[in-house]
Amino acid sequence: GGFESMGFSYPVYRGIKMKGYKVPTPIQRKTIPLVLRGHDLVAMARTGSGKTAAFLLPMFERLKEHSVKVGIRALILSPTRELALQTLKFGKELGKYTGLRMALLVGGDSMEDQFAALAHNPDVVIATPGRLLHHLEEVGLTLQSVQYIVFDECDRLFEMGFAAELRAIMKKVSDNRQTLLFSATLPAALAEFARAGLKDPELVRL
Ligand code: AMP
Repeated sequence: GGFESMGFSYPVYRGIKMKGYKVPTPIQRKTIPLVLRGHDLVAMARTGSGKTAAFLLPMFERLKEHSVKVGIRALILSPTRELALQTLKFGKELGKYTGLRMALLVGGDSMEDQFAALAHNPDVVIATPGRLLHHLEEVGLTLQSVQYIVFDECDRLFEMGFAAELRAIMKKVSDNRQTLLFSATLPAALAEFARAGLKDPELVRL
């Protein structure tokens, strides 16, 4: 099966076509149907595997369209500012026809600019853990409406010393969320984190 048999709505499918993708990559083929069915997921996937679209496409499908009322509905955590920026740029292209709004909360950017971005009612926030926690603890941002959370390059999140921040962030998101963890490797600390925070996750490895 190709993308056309995965059940994407037209605005999401149009983004795929616009990017020129013909068929899903192996990681997309394995993960997208599980995520669309609502499963939590631990996926072992490297950069270059198409992992970003693997979590963005079902996210678009779940969120459908921009909402001013609900608040932040999806959260993507990145280990670095560079990866977060790259994910935002890619997400804006791939999700162009959905009308969903995305905001970036990373260290190094001004808090003022980030307040302005949050005032535009983003549906999706892409963040590095330190800066997100700063918004949560110092400025009263809430994550109660988040229903879809992605830990991207989770082994690097751990290597960079963000374990405590990730646990703190996880506690602030409702238990009703869908949680996705993407990582090149699965060290013991990460497996433990997944056991504590994910519900019966499907494990996908290539
Ligand atoms: P990633 O592993 O997410 O960093 O993606 C690596 C590259 O693969 C990016 O340039 C994507 O645009 C591209 N890509 C993702 N999915 C597909 C696909 N199904 N067909 C062709 N290229 C893709």
